[in-house]
Amino acid sequence: MNLEITKAIKTLLNVPQKIVIIPHKNPDGDAIGSTLGLWHYLKNKGQDATIIVPNDFPKFLKWMPGTEQIIIFEKDASTARQLINKATVIFTLDFNHLGRIGQLQPLLEDASATFVMIDHHQEPDDYAKITYSDVSMSSTCEMVYNVIEGLNDTECITSELAISLYTGIMTDTGSFKYSSTTSRTHTVVAKLIEKGAKNTEAHNKVYDTNTPSRLHLLGCALKNMVILEEFNTAFITLSQEELDAYEYKKGDTEGFVNYGLTLEGIVFAVIFIENKEEGIIKISFRSEGDFSVNEFARAHFNGGGHTNAAGGRSDVSLEDTTTLFKSLLPQYKADLNA
Ligand code: 5GP
Ligand code: MN
Repeated sequence: MNLEITKAIKTLLNVPQKIVIIPHKNPDGDAIGSTLGLWHYLKNKGQDATIIVPNDFPKFLKWMPGTEQIIIFEKDASTARQLINKATVIFTLDFNHLGRIGQLQPLLEDASATFVMIDHHQEPDDYAKITYSDVSMSSTCEMVYNVIEGLNDTECITSELAISLYTGIMTDTGSFKYSSTTSRTHTVVAKLIEKGAKNTEAHNKVYDTNTPSRLHLLGCALKNMVILEEFNTAFITLSQEELDAYEYKKGDTEGFVNYGLTLEGIVFAVIFIENKEEGIIKISFRSEGDFSVNEFARAHFNGGGHTNAAGGRSDVSLEDTTTLFKSLLPQYKADLNA
């Protein structure tokens, strides 16, 4: 990483600070892993640090050491507000603009703390005083490792810290298979295992704790899959009624979108999930190769992310959303058949 960024972070942490660490809304493995990794590091250095997440996160991430101390803004807004008001430094992790933190946005816009962004999403905003943004990175967890290494503090990496970063790299790389996985990623992972990250345990706890209802929901999702061969595209829908029928719990649909890409020839996979409470359709986009789902999500569904993995939303019904989606495909036909 850039020497100037390292120096700026070093200067900031040379004195005791009141630190808050915040990931994006609906935090995933990388968001929770990177915030926990940084939190363990800062605590080990004697800093006063707290993690605040905008909303709750799935059970399959709650085994990581330190998760029980995370403040969930949706459940404990007053504590979160106090911490943000008193903070001297706010680290924002795994997101690129304040619109990604839901109800926390106005609080951060008013905060007087020094902001540090660590993130790997495309087109970052410039709200932070120190911005460590690198879209070539596999994960924010790999970047947190780089920060710790840049500060010459790898001896501060405990097994708790190591397993947090390991888990986030694992989930954000699809278990080390996406194209963002580099030899450096594997080097970092090797060092984390040396520091005590139990790799098999992380895989078991994240991927092998299914419930029967989740597998039945997956069955429903796969049955609903629509394949549009002309556009090398496959999409899945899940209505609120279907989610309720299979006792949907947060995180249950994680990874469903990827099944579309396992079909030979399919390069664009999408899942549309109805959320009656928020009155939106939450959308996940995935692609293989050059088709940029980041650009597609930005242009049509108020979202963004990476070239091959992005998210977005729609405010019309599930049916109207998929109708709109299908109407957009002809203009991308050449790209999707490239
Ligand atoms: P997922 O589909 O797994 O929720 O997210 C895929 C990627 O897109 C992640 O890197 C995530 O941070 C990003 N992402 C998900 N939803 C949104 C969104 O609504 N807006 C933006 N800008 N990025 C999103
Ligand atoms: Mn990430």
